[in-house]
Amino acid sequence: MRTVKEILESIHGEGGRGFVSTSNSKPSLPQSIRVLSGALVRIHSEYTRLKDTDKFGRVRCFTCDKVMPWKESQEGHYIPRGKLPTKFENKNTHAQCPNCNMMLAGNLEVYRVRLDARYGKGTADDMLALSKVKYRPTRADYQSQIAFYKSAVKKVKKRLDI
Ligand SMILES: [Zn+2]
Repeated sequence: MRTVKEILESIHGEGGRGFVSTSNSKPSLPQSIRVLSGALVRIHSEYTRLKDTDKFGRVRCFTCDKVMPWKESQEGHYIPRGKLPTKFENKNTHAQCPNCNMMLAGNLEVYRVRLDARYGKGTADDMLALSKVKYRPTRADYQSQIAFYKSAVKKVKKRLDI
């Protein structure tokens, strides 16, 4: 049996029409943030993997230099994605091969050295400091970020002609 909330959501979309739950299920607002967050994760991952992609559609792993088609790369975080202030920070996110991102858990020792080499000494420490800042994005924050990265991805794809 579906709940009233689930049925209404299937008609109007998640959190649609400002539906206020009368059951003990979760209110619609946090759920909407979850949906927005998921959308931002997807578009930001696309941007991260495309930003260093060459005209042949290939990207180099930030930490081991393996070259691969951009779609086979993953968005690798220096500070783990659980930390909101650095989750979508472009200096904290780069294309990585699955081996560095997953098997080597981010290959963080190399990641740290390369962050400082690329952006200047102290960048890795800056990311750590930023990750500790109190930050709770609003729905509007997510919406504007999603719009920004959608447009950024479109521009990169146009430049790469892919
Ligand atoms: Zn790698």
